[in-house]
Amino acid sequence: MSIQLVTTVAGLKAESVRLLNAKQGTSQALVPTMGALHEGHATLARTAVENNDVVVASIFVNPLQFGDAVDLDRYPRTLDADLALLEEQGVHLAFAPSVEEVYPGGEPLVRVTSGRLGEKWEGASRPGHFDGALTVVAKLLHYGMPAAGLTAGSAAGAAAGGLPAYRAYFGQKDAQQLALVRQMVADLNFPVEIVGVPTVRAEDGLALSSRNRFLSDEERDAALVLSRALRLLEERANAHEPLDLDSALALVESQPLVSLDYFDVVDPRTLEPLAENCRETPFRGEGLALIAAKVGPVRLIDNMPLNS
Ligand code: AMP
Repeated sequence: MSIQLVTTVAGLKAESVRLLNAKQGTSQALVPTMGALHEGHATLARTAVENNDVVVASIFVNPLQFGDAVDLDRYPRTLDADLALLEEQGVHLAFAPSVEEVYPGGEPLVRVTSGRLGEKWEGASRPGHFDGALTVVAKLLHYGMPAAGLTAGSAAGAAAGGLPAYRAYFGQKDAQQLALVRQMVADLNFPVEIVGVPTVRAEDGLALSSRNRFLSDEERDAALVLSRALRLLEERANAHEPLDLDSALALVESQPLVSLDYFDVVDPRTLEPLAENCRETPFRGEGLALIAAKVGPVRLIDNMPLNS
């Protein structure tokens, strides 16, 4: 079935209800993106298609989460290629609204506050970023929610409690965003299951990102120290050895094109740094290694879940 493009919230609601009824579906999923899609996004979309009857992918470059107008203007926009990629994964609806459709009264007066969790790491380098991101995610989660109007007697209507299941898919690549979305959904009682999808990497280890297209060949080579440093820690964690952060750090700092912003091992839920002793005692339990750096002019983030 070919993908359908909708650009208004009313259109999205009408088409998703129609599809859910036509398929006698019992589940609906949302995959929020900013477009410029790659295999990482494709994996999110495929995972959603495999597990849900109706899948909506949104494509919206959210001005609210960009501190820098130049960065917003430069963000790649590739709608035709994005639609082709989503169709290949079996996504049913692409929702690509205008800025006016999402923010009809201009920038919203009331926003979601990301709190302490949104002020550290990425939030420290990009003030206001997560408030903007969570505000649009909240709106998108409402837009993508299975709507009222299901045909009486349909499978969906008959499903437990009469409500179809609702899931939204986010990448582990943006670990802090994923932690914040989970926190928002729990704190504000959004009726949606948040599904995290592991980071998709190029063969040489570089995490796929819409921003990678801005790297020169030389910068792309240099950027490999990020994933290599993370992998060093992963090997240590898997071997139940102390995490050798100093060697991993030295590897990153050996690369002159890379300017490090932060690199640390944190608790995966609170994102608070793990006790110093993970450097001296064998690593036990769970952690998350976070890294952010500028490679040439391009800011990249990556992370690695650590389990022993
Ligand atoms: P973006 O378009 O960058 O806002 O990303 C949309 C969604 O795709 C987010 O949930 C990202 O975490 C996810 N994503 C981006 N890159 C990757 C990747 N390399 N692997 C898995 N998910 C990703």
